[in-house]
Amino acid sequence: MHKIKTILIIIFINGIIMSQNFNFEQSLYYNYEFFKEKTLKDRFFKHSEIKSLIESLKRKNVFHIEEVGKSFEGKEIFLLSIGSGKKKVFLWSQMHGDEPTATAALFDIFNFLADTVHYYDLRKFILQNVTLYFMPMVNPDGADNFTRRNSMMIDINRDANRLETPEARLLMNVFDSIKADFGFNLHDQSHRFSVGNSFKQATISFLAPPFDYEKNIDSVRLNSMKLISGLYELLNKFIPGHISKYSDDYEPRAFGDNFQKKGTSTILVESGGWKNDPEKQFIRKLNFILLLSAFKQIADDSYKNFDENIYNSIPFNEERLYDLVLRNLTISKNGFDYKLDLAINFEEILLKDKSGVFLKSQIENIGDLSNYYGIEDYDLTGYRLDSGKTFSKEFSNLKEVEKVDVFEMLKKGYTNFILKNSNGEVSDIPFNLITDKKKPDFSIKIGNNATFVIRRNGKIEYSVINGFIQNLNTKTFKNNGLVF
Ligand SMILES: [Zn+2]
Repeated sequence: MHKIKTILIIIFINGIIMSQNFNFEQSLYYNYEFFKEKTLKDRFFKHSEIKSLIESLKRKNVFHIEEVGKSFEGKEIFLLSIGSGKKKVFLWSQMHGDEPTATAALFDIFNFLADTVHYYDLRKFILQNVTLYFMPMVNPDGADNFTRRNSMMIDINRDANRLETPEARLLMNVFDSIKADFGFNLHDQSHRFSVGNSFKQATISFLAPPFDYEKNIDSVRLNSMKLISGLYELLNKFIPGHISKYSDDYEPRAFGDNFQKKGTSTILVESGGWKNDPEKQFIRKLNFILLLSAFKQIADDSYKNFDENIYNSIPFNEERLYDLVLRNLTISKNGFDYKLDLAINFEEILLKDKSGVFLKSQIENIGDLSNYYGIEDYDLTGYRLDSGKTFSKEFSNLKEVEKVDVFEMLKKGYTNFILKNSNGEVSDIPFNLITDKKKPDFSIKIGNNATFVIRRNGKIEYSVINGFIQNLNTKTFKNNGLVF
């Protein structure tokens, strides 16, 4: 049974105990787990799961819930509303099917809004001043296939003018029927964006979308800027240096830009990357806090107190990050020794049952990478890169492979096994499995899979298999090889 914690800061000054209540955002940060929708665990939840959560919300009778339309494949799209305030806020999520972080956060917010006990005054204040409208998972067909586009292969966020997709038509109709004061356009972006050239991952990016190529500012856009300034100040307490601004180039086919033009102060929120959080559960929590804070700031107009120059000073997204950077490695070719940095990225490949992804590495850059940064970053001065070996025995099935002492084989420099029959794509052991006679190319070349060993004084200290670096002084293996 979860209990809400009362949050107190207790400071000891000259023996006097002073206590001070946290502001509500800090309190929500510590109490988040209480509201988290536990059935949504990762980025791969499907429309059917959302639908059943909405069915159970219907039984609570807290929201007004309507099926407002259907996707191209006939999946229901819902609008939930709550509150009686004059100011209207409209939020829509996941118009790109593989961008689910905010959808999960919206269900956490639904739990918060459906609670009748905790944060009673805050909830009451928000709902008396604001009416909230939510359209979670605008693109259910894309969500079920974990694709950006809908099943007509159209990017819904480039269909705001033509309205060829039923999802875009629906979003536009609902928007026009609400005429909201504020709109939240909720997306995910690459985890490899950096905050300016700071080498920090852009965890949350904001944008007050422009409504013309000149990037003019009217009172509508100014309110988006001020509210983002307020949210930036808030988030900076939790993730200092990890907040950026999304490209502000005008995109006439996108919804945010059009909604801003139509008079709704629109805010783009992009969930980016956070180290060791591939399923973005921490970023989901940040969405929960920032959206509730936005409701409060809109309810009491406190966003107006923020200077838009805070918004203007937020650094733009830049691309300064790789998943893994190995620095100062010595390599030998044609009898010459030279030093290089190596950058490796992982591509996510959707599993056949669409329940998750596996990772496939690729060498992205080679040379002096001193003005780039790895989300994992190693200085390997004094180390030498060497190719891995393929074990000569041919295994006939995976069970035989699994009997091998993997750790001993890695220390001997083996990185690949030959497996005669495998129809899989991914190897659960930290070895690549080679199934046909054609040997994959593991040379150090841009575009190749990153598989090699790293020696110091002749002894192998690290293996890199499918881009995963393994210190051979520890026996905890992680992640996967590939089947070739
Ligand atoms: Zn998107």
